Amino acid sequence: MQQNKIVIIGAGLTGLIVAKELKNNGLDVVLLEKLDQPGGRIRTIEKNGWSLDVGFQVLLTAYPYLNKHVPLNRLELQNLDAGATIFYKKRTIAIGDPLRTKGVLLSTIFSNVGTLNDKLLIFKLQRTVKKWSVDEIFEYPNCSTMEYLTNYGFSDNIIQKFFKPFFTGIFLEDKLETSARMFLFVFKMFAEGNAAIPHGGIGSLPQFLVKEYGIKIHYNRPVAALGKGFVVTSDGEKISADLIVDTRPEFSADHEELNWNGCHNFYFEHPSPRLIKSPRIGLNANPQKLVNNIFYPSSILVPHSKKGMELLSVTVVNSHRLGKSELEKVVIKELIEDFQLSNLNLVHYFFIPKAIPVVNPSLNQFTVIEEDGVIKAGDYLMNGSQNAACKAGEYIAAFILDKEKILDGLTK
Ligand SMILES: Cc1cc2nc3c(=O)[nH]c(=O)nc-3n(C[C@H](O)[C@H](O)[C@H](O)COP(=O)(O)OP(=O)(O)OC[C@H]3O[C@@H](n4cnc5c(N)ncnc54)[C@H](O)[C@@H]3O)c2cc1C
Repeated sequence: MQQNKIVIIGAGLTGLIVAKELKNNGLDVVLLEKLDQPGGRIRTIEKNGWSLDVGFQVLLTAYPYLNKHVPLNRLELQNLDAGATIFYKKRTIAIGDPLRTKGVLLSTIFSNVGTLNDKLLIFKLQRTVKKWSVDEIFEYPNCSTMEYLTNYGFSDNIIQKFFKPFFTGIFLEDKLETSARMFLFVFKMFAEGNAAIPHGGIGSLPQFLVKEYGIKIHYNRPVAALGKGFVVTSDGEKISADLIVDTRPEFSADHEELNWNGCHNFYFEHPSPRLIKSPRIGLNANPQKLVNNIFYPSSILVPHSKKGMELLSVTVVNSHRLGKSELEKVVIKELIEDFQLSNLNLVHYFFIPKAIPVVNPSLNQFTVIEEDGVIKAGDYLMNGSQNAACKAGEYIAAFILDKEKILDGLTK
């Protein structure tokens, strides 16, 4: 079989799925990655004895394409509680799905987070999205999440105290302007599965793929330029390529500059015990405050826990343009005053301006377009999710395999 030389730029989830699929079908690729580890936006680093995810990130076990490509049962997943602890004006309330999280039934029903009607609407919406297919959801007339929630009849109280902080932490924007299709998709995924994090941190996911499928990656090899039939790495090497798969999320499908949602992620350590015992998210429902959510990775990172100490992840979505040191001061003040935490020691700070690409309307269809021997790929062409990255990877690999079969037929 005559083989095209395929170069993949980027070892994020999309690039890894393309490489895995092609390798499983007997095709070799050259995979060039600018960093010294795989995963792109899904990474974990080690510091001060802790494993730190580069931005708080979960995977949703119901994601259909993630399930298809990653044997999730091999990742040592820790499910998060199906609910959240809401912090509001020095009060806390645990709410959640009473069918899946022990001990939240009464607090959910009697909480002042939303009316009884809101709780009935949540059950109704859960039943509805379970009936809809993912494709049907992405055909839903486009509007913002905020418009959808209001039109569905949810009270301002539950929108402000639950939906807004919860989905701000997911979409990484605090106006809920994100397409309602994305909201319905994520809501369906929460209704049908769990939010989970591997014990070793979110970066275990790409690390697993690399190891399991023997994917060879050329690390620290940023591509500086590309043209018809070649790429040039930053050290000046020109690598010829019959086909290039470019997974760098730099421009949208119509070559426009991408817009992004991002976040600031602080990691603090403090002496045990934890403020929230189980692996559950803590939401700040006060819109005047900067901290959006907190989570204790030390509630799951068993092998990396430091005895007697806890690791706390704190996410800020809207920093009101404060610089790092100002922001740090405000965050610590809020953690002390609103969450009653003390003895906090900053372990690390990540600023991640490009976390979730803004794709409006969000899409679920991926059409492979090859222009001058280059195929653009990535979540940003559909919707900002691991599921979209896996789907894009699968479709591109299938397209390449079809091409190879035609070429093979011609050479026989
Ligand atoms: C903080 C945060 C939270 C998130 N939360 C969630 C979540 O809860 N659930 C969810 O589903 N999704 C979440 N996401 C989004 C999810 O991580 C992405 O959808 C997914 O990782 C996209 O994968 P990708 O391969 O398409 O893109 P990337 O991961 O961006 O991959 C692109 C790759 O190209 C490499 N690259 C860039 N330039 C070059 C170059 N010049 N030469 C060579 N290589 C290059 C990059 O280093 C990277 O490895 C989150 C993302 C972040 C950052």
